[in-house]
Amino acid sequence: MDLGIAGKWALVCGASKGLGYGCAKALVQEGVNVVINARGDAALQAAAAQLRSISADAASTGGKKPAQVLAVACDITTPAGREAVFGVAGGPGIAFDMLVTNAGGPPTGDFRDWDRDAWIKAVDANMLTPIELIKTVVDGMAARGFGRIVNITSSAVKAPIDILGLSNGARSGLTGFVAGLARSGIAGHGVTINSLLPGKFDTDRLASTHQAAASKSGKEVADIRSAQAAQIPAKRFGNADEFGAICAFLCSVHAGYMTGQNILPDGGLYNGTF
Ligand code: NAD
Repeated sequence: MDLGIAGKWALVCGASKGLGYGCAKALVQEGVNVVINARGDAALQAAAAQLRSISADAASTGGKKPAQVLAVACDITTPAGREAVFGVAGGPGIAFDMLVTNAGGPPTGDFRDWDRDAWIKAVDANMLTPIELIKTVVDGMAARGFGRIVNITSSAVKAPIDILGLSNGARSGLTGFVAGLARSGIAGHGVTINSLLPGKFDTDRLASTHQAAASKSGKEVADIRSAQAAQIPAKRFGNADEFGAICAFLCSVHAGYMTGQNILPDGGLYNGTF
């Protein structure tokens, strides 16, 4: 299926590895130009080089123009970081057609140990940063009659995870906010906002939560990993490529009638009819 988005511009945050990288990869395979962001320059430049090569391969077989890939190393949760991604030379400025919001998840722990600063940090990264990014691009998208916004949140929005209280709370705040915005006037101007709620995907982030669970319980990481995979009806963790493919579809011309949705790729782990 041709997703109909070649030549458009996407900002994909937190994209040097993991789920953000998976989204950027799926988009460049469709000929979408991307600005990718992460904090560490070396890993980000390596990811950008990989994406350019993947895009060139896809273009040579699929007849599309290779995508442009621009990389901005910065902390997206800071005003300076956001200014840098929108100001990158050769990028579209604030005239992005697509936005994938993403940043590292908050730490695990017990809420009794979290002070106000810990909460502010989590809310800033996982609620207010996506809202600031959306605020910057959404009216331009509406004026141009096309926009796709995808927030990478977490299955914790649908089913809370005990050691991830900061994530349960901060991401639910974002989810409530975008539920209203997605259904506002922008919906009549070709702009959709949806969230992807990853279940358990095999990335460094998942490895760090396994490590935390091992430290808390005294069990081996390998045992925690296999026990968790066994609980998933699909009997495995997801991978970043399959996550990216869903993101690219949500960004496509075919997904224009789908907005304000929370989509849960989790191998069937959430046990509910809806
Ligand atoms: P990851 O650690 O593999 O990758 C995170 C990416 O974001 C990296 O490129 C990192 O450099 C970048 N990043 C982190 N903080 C940043 C910041 N402040 N500014 C710019 N870039 C930043 O993580 P992942 O598994 O890809 O997870 C992505 C998001 O999805 C996280 O918020 C995570 O909590 C959430 N999530 C992941 C899973 C999972 O199973 N992997 C499940 C639920 C939720």
